[in-house]
Amino acid sequence: MSDDTQNLQAYRASLLHFHADPALAADAHAWHADGLLIVEDGRVKAAGDYDRLAPTLPAGLEPIDYRGKIITPGFIDTHLHFPQTDMIASPAPGLLPWLETYTFPTERQFSDPMHARATAEFFLDELLRNGTTTALVYCTVHKESVDAFFEASAARNLRMAGGKVLMDRHCPDFLRDTPDMRDSEELINRWHNKGRALYAITPRFAPTSSEDQLAATRELARAYPDTFIQTHVSENADECAWVGQLFPEQRSYLHVYEHFGLMRPRAMFGHCIWLDDTDFSRMAETGSAIAHCPTSNLFLGSGLFDMASADKAGALVSLGTDVGAGTSFSILQTMNEAYKVARLKGSYLPALRMFYLATLGAARSMQLEGTIGNFAPGAEADFIVLDPKATPLLERRTAHGNTLEETLFALALLGDDRAIRATYAAGRLVHERTLP
Ligand SMILES: [Zn+2]
Repeated sequence: MSDDTQNLQAYRASLLHFHADPALAADAHAWHADGLLIVEDGRVKAAGDYDRLAPTLPAGLEPIDYRGKIITPGFIDTHLHFPQTDMIASPAPGLLPWLETYTFPTERQFSDPMHARATAEFFLDELLRNGTTTALVYCTVHKESVDAFFEASAARNLRMAGGKVLMDRHCPDFLRDTPDMRDSEELINRWHNKGRALYAITPRFAPTSSEDQLAATRELARAYPDTFIQTHVSENADECAWVGQLFPEQRSYLHVYEHFGLMRPRAMFGHCIWLDDTDFSRMAETGSAIAHCPTSNLFLGSGLFDMASADKAGALVSLGTDVGAGTSFSILQTMNEAYKVARLKGSYLPALRMFYLATLGAARSMQLEGTIGNFAPGAEADFIVLDPKATPLLERRTAHGNTLEETLFALALLGDDRAIRATYAAGRLVHERTLP
């Protein structure tokens, strides 16, 4: 941990974290209305009731007082694009025109290390303002973009994953890559498991990778089995039809990735809207995971993710903002839209489950349980301080007699970056909201 991490610190607030999926277990969460979180050397030492833990503190150590607020593990965003920060909220009728008009020209700028560095700095600070302490991030085809991302992340001592986009067809010449994996391999050796950095092998999506590139990606993923793999799958109907034409011999879009050896633990698939039951089962059986990105899916009109089918298959599910097609960096606002998408699909997503998906559920999806995602002793102390009275409306809504579910639901529906009072990474304060 960094030298400026204080050795021992304690925080008094309500505490919420999970040790199981609330969809599967009645007692999946721990809630301490008057709680104490004790952090030592950037890791969780203990989390529990204040009355029980306060006497264990050394004499003279005063807890930082966040009473009236809720401490949870930091949010985990499992799908977004840092180079698209500057093009969030760009209008286009659907995915393919949006890529042509905005995405590719924007990503072109990331061959410039200065531009990449400045954007990475802003991007990470924006994540921290929104309470996101870990993310699985797409860079661009330029290796400079990956170096910029990990350098900025290391400067903040964050648990971040990301990688260089692989794309060698159906894209402009200025973003065209080749099946040669030497750049990716060099980046893995430079960054993966260095400090808190984790590398993600990142083919953009099947239509922009040749069969040769997908085969080379499979070899790279085999050579480095604890790296992440991230890509997009079954986002919208036009794209699915295109993949059907490009890979007519494969059973489904998802099966293209399975055919090329890219389904395994630590493989994260963005969107997964048009999967069938066999696809959902293969997700579960291979230990691959889903990044559900509701603000993006609604923005682009891609479709409605079927959480109930994913749950029925036992697939790992997490939440992604998918900035820049996503319309918010806020995981709270992502929950807000996930809730509505579930309603439109005829199912119901409790707030408690959404907070699980954004913390321990995402850690499990990334095979990082025990490292991040809850307050188990020894876990890295990435946590946030949520303020249920952050805005006049939230204050009024949460003023009286709410259950935990009602308070969390109000935070998810009405909250955003203003509800994040403070963010800590490895026990160090990395964002504190400036109050008006
Ligand atoms: Zn995406």
